[in-house]
Amino acid sequence: MTEQQIADNFEKVRTEIAEAEQKSGRAAGSVRLCAVSKFHPAQDVIAAMHAGQVLFGENRVQEAYDKFGLVREAVQTQPQLHIIGSLQTNKVKKAVSISSCIQSVDREPLLAEIERQCARIGKTIEIFFEIHTGEDTKSGYTDTDELFASAEHCASGMYPHIVPRGLMTMAPFTREEKPVREAFSSVRKLKEELGVRFPSLRIQELSMGMSQDFAIAVEEGSTMVRIGTALFGERPAAL
Ligand SMILES: *Cc1c(COP(=O)(O)O)cnc(C)c1O
Repeated sequence: MTEQQIADNFEKVRTEIAEAEQKSGRAAGSVRLCAVSKFHPAQDVIAAMHAGQVLFGENRVQEAYDKFGLVREAVQTQPQLHIIGSLQTNKVKKAVSISSCIQSVDREPLLAEIERQCARIGKTIEIFFEIHTGEDTKSGYTDTDELFASAEHCASGMYPHIVPRGLMTMAPFTREEKPVREAFSSVRKLKEELGVRFPSLRIQELSMGMSQDFAIAVEEGSTMVRIGTALFGERPAAL
């Protein structure tokens, strides 16, 4: 993709997000765009930054580490990076060093390791709990009791370097609208329930919606859409 094509794609996607906000009676600017640059080169991230984008999402820690090392040398305003892919415990140290938020927290032991690595370097990090809704991925909490236990541990001060900010999900990968909408609305309800049970936590973000389903996600209350293909084109290899 040329820099111009990437700029045009950002323009188009931002317009579509604004239209979805308007259609569903949401305030203009209430949905943030996380640009998913996985499998695309540093050059494309830099082009996106020239088009005004600051927030990026990456799946793989090593890839993100190498790529954003290059990006940070090439730009003045620094990008913000969220880790969105399933995270192995042995990658947490590096993930914590390069990102401001880990959106893919899907099990208690990951919280413990994130806490340990953040404490070591004196960093506080935001996290989202990932909720399993689609059959296409294995990641995400499947058991609400387990999710509530993790939230309770955060609320009780067990992880002082971790700030839970929201929930993230990947909807089922289908052209049918109904299961996708239901997945998003179930996660919104879960967020409301967490708000009631754990008012001291500020779990306000809903990271939902990708290239093919973000308009539905916005209608269902998403506050952050994670978009790759519609911005950067098809990825060079399947995931
Ligand atoms: C790849 C990926 C995205 C972006 O998907 P597109 O369909 O390319 O927009 C969003 N979220 C997660 C967790 C991903 O892995």
